[in-house]
Amino acid sequence: MEDISTLAVVNDVCPLCATPSISGDICGRCLQNPPYIDRLWVNFYYEEPIKTLLHHWKFRGQIELSHCLQQLLLKRLPEFLSDEHFDAVIAMPMSSKRLLEHGFHHTLELTYPVVKQQQLHLFDVHHITREHRIAQSKLKRKERLSNLKNCFTVHAEVEGMNFLLIDDVVTTGASFNELAKTLKKQGAGKIYAWALTGQTRQIKN
Ligand SMILES: [Zn+2]
Repeated sequence: MEDISTLAVVNDVCPLCATPSISGDICGRCLQNPPYIDRLWVNFYYEEPIKTLLHHWKFRGQIELSHCLQQLLLKRLPEFLSDEHFDAVIAMPMSSKRLLEHGFHHTLELTYPVVKQQQLHLFDVHHITREHRIAQSKLKRKERLSNLKNCFTVHAEVEGMNFLLIDDVVTTGASFNELAKTLKKQGAGKIYAWALTGQTRQIKN
């Protein structure tokens, strides 16, 4: 595979949404409308060749690419990983319809090696259900934010627990944010989010 390190998100970015920001300060958008997640870390920009890899993995059922993507996730551990305590790690939940379409739980595939390497506790996937909604990728920013409203239901005790959420792609952050909101409404503590890819190279705020 070609050298992927050029795609690493290493510029100064907002700690809450990972979009480029001056000196790594919280960006204007997050100051105005603070997200529910406490920190967001993104490994790589959503560009080639990762884009194609992800497409084949998720939409063409090439589960054999899991190993490569797992390695890419472990290649850049979040700076907060060693400083914070996590009671459990949550693989971004999928609706049962989406799970059938994809044939496997792709975010869970990404999460297994993290849990193993970092000796963390994996939150049972059955503890959270996700109502089926239109795929976020088919929607514009504003629609993405409202599309996921109340789509998650947490069926376990989360009071005072700190979580690490893992997803493959973060775009607007709507999925992370909605899940963090749901967990915090049920008393969860801090919520950290880690995505393999996302964002663009432009400063938006
Ligand atoms: Zn921000």
